[in-house]
Amino acid sequence: MEFLVRPVRNQPDVAEVRYDCECGCKPRARYQKGKDEANHEHCCCGRVHFVGAKAEERLQAYLADRRAKGEDAGIAYALHTASVQAPWGEPIGVAYALPDKPKAH
Ligand SMILES: [Zn+2]
Ligand SMILES: [Zn+2]
Repeated sequence: MEFLVRPVRNQPDVAEVRYDCECGCKPRARYQKGKDEANHEHCCCGRVHFVGAKAEERLQAYLADRRAKGEDAGIAYALHTASVQAPWGEPIGVAYALPDKPKAH
């Protein structure tokens, strides 16, 4: 997975991190400089990425919550992490999960 960082118009302290998903979508999530939070997009095919502070921890909590609700029955995820560089020069953490059986777009 290759993540691209884009600055956001008129918001110099916000970065948008996206990738070209195999299903054809372009999922994106934003991170605001200095915030103790991570945002995510869960693609239609089941791939999901988190961007920001404690991205991996938050991804794991998100998946655990879905599993507890029975939303991911029968799906196994492989978790990965990456790092991208923000427009302001700092690294931003990225964590993503790939389902063993992605859904069709
Ligand atoms: Zn997708
Ligand atoms: Zn899609």
